Amino acid sequence: MSFANHLENVTIQPKISASQAIPPVAVPFVSEKAKKHLDLVERWVNEECIPADTVYASQLNTTTNRWTGHPSVLDHMKKRAKELGIWNMFLPKNHFANEGSPGFTNLEYGLMAEQLGKSRIASEACNCAAPDTGNMEVIARYGTRAQKDQWLKPLLAGEIRSGFLMTEPDVASSDGSNIQLRIEKKSDHWLLNGSKWWSSGAGDDRCKIFIVMGKTDPNNSNKFLQQSMLLVPAETKGITVHRMLSVYGYDDAPHGHGHISFKDVKVPLDSILVGEGKGNEIMQGRLGPGRIHHAMRSIGAAEVALEWMIHRLNDERKTPFGKPLREHGVLIEWVAKSRMEIDASRLVVLNAAIKIDQKDAKFALREIAEAKVLVPQMALTVIDRAVQVHGAMGIRTLRIADGPDEAHLQQLGKRENKERKDEIIAKFARQTQTAEKLFKQMGLTPYLLGAEKFRSKL
Ligand SMILES: Cc1cc2nc3c(=O)[nH]c(=O)nc-3n(C[C@H](O)[C@H](O)[C@H](O)COP(=O)(O)OP(=O)(O)OC[C@H]3O[C@@H](n4cnc5c(N)ncnc54)[C@H](O)[C@@H]3O)c2cc1C
Repeated sequence: MSFANHLENVTIQPKISASQAIPPVAVPFVSEKAKKHLDLVERWVNEECIPADTVYASQLNTTTNRWTGHPSVLDHMKKRAKELGIWNMFLPKNHFANEGSPGFTNLEYGLMAEQLGKSRIASEACNCAAPDTGNMEVIARYGTRAQKDQWLKPLLAGEIRSGFLMTEPDVASSDGSNIQLRIEKKSDHWLLNGSKWWSSGAGDDRCKIFIVMGKTDPNNSNKFLQQSMLLVPAETKGITVHRMLSVYGYDDAPHGHGHISFKDVKVPLDSILVGEGKGNEIMQGRLGPGRIHHAMRSIGAAEVALEWMIHRLNDERKTPFGKPLREHGVLIEWVAKSRMEIDASRLVVLNAAIKIDQKDAKFALREIAEAKVLVPQMALTVIDRAVQVHGAMGIRTLRIADGPDEAHLQQLGKRENKERKDEIIAKFARQTQTAEKLFKQMGLTPYLLGAEKFRSKL
């Protein structure tokens, strides 16, 4: 059967919806409202966001200025997300019922974040993108009424973006007590001098507010009470964004990771969050839920990599050494291993989210650390396998030993491949069709390196 025929015969809906796939250990903690919303998010990501990803990449690659020429498809998708009521799910209900939380727990949003992680633009399109999510939580939790009115409101509405400035070029910033940026208290203002780098989002001209960590009391005998955090408007005099740093050659436009200096920057005294010496405490509070979000998005990315793997294994044109890729044992074993590793990692993250919901991030420190370390390693492994099956087929020397483990892996991999291939092939083809319609709707020529190339395979 050709890929095109799959389109007619198979519906795009997965056989099991995201809510039906929630691991049994987590089910008792997920409300009916959250289950419905999760399925809505899943459908929106699959049917609308992933096709729009191609349009986004095309618009970004053809704009004259990648930092200011924001792809219009993102605004189109934001509008759509608001229409569907898919907005700000990250803001947990137990703390922020009065601040615009749509009423989900960290666990419930974690399940949704996995779906968002499958698309490049989905998180931003529904106002659930880092670093804004962590920053909004900080302002919601620690800000005064006036600070919330000025900054939280436009952030929650998706009108502006924000940055979190902690890391510095001259010190080992993984240890927060090393932070050097000096914040001096003057009669009617704070005076800031120092520099920051890896300030994510600083390249975006919609980034209007920085949360800046620095030292207000460098001589305090307790090194964890030396730091404070201030809300600093990005356009304040004395702030210079020098350059955007690159990650393996990618500058991540229009988001960017900035190298920024502060020279005699003045902000009013009421810019401080909570009070002097509270910087470390705020930092710890910020990192807990954010790590769950990152981890679940990475699980979503790994799921998509596995889908691409299965898609490639069922490309009938690829028959090295006389048989389809799916009949090469090692590749089906990669499918099996990926399935197991993703499922195991998800349990670790959901467990951490449940513990945060039971009390707070401090209560779940160990579980959060487990998730933070484990998931990126797993995602890299799965993505690496997906990359490999897409071309570098020279490596076929993976250990293939006899024994019951291997037999299990074969069965597991074959089942995953058999049960999901039709649905995945049909879904990918339909997503391409939707992307093409969206290109036309927006008056654009389909992106040759993406949709057209993919379509030419059908
Ligand atoms: C893409 C990207 C986006 C980022 N976005 C932001 C942002 O928005 N805001 C922000 O403030 N920062 C951001 N960062 C910076 C990031 O948080 C820091 O790089 C990180 O905290 C490490 O600090 P450092 O680079 O100063 O490394 P260092 O603190 O110098 O650490 C270097 C290495 O030392 C080792 N090490 C450190 N501590 C230990 C230990 N206890 N035991 C053993 N080994 C250890 C680790 O291998 C570590 O990688 C971003 C970084 C990247 C790559």
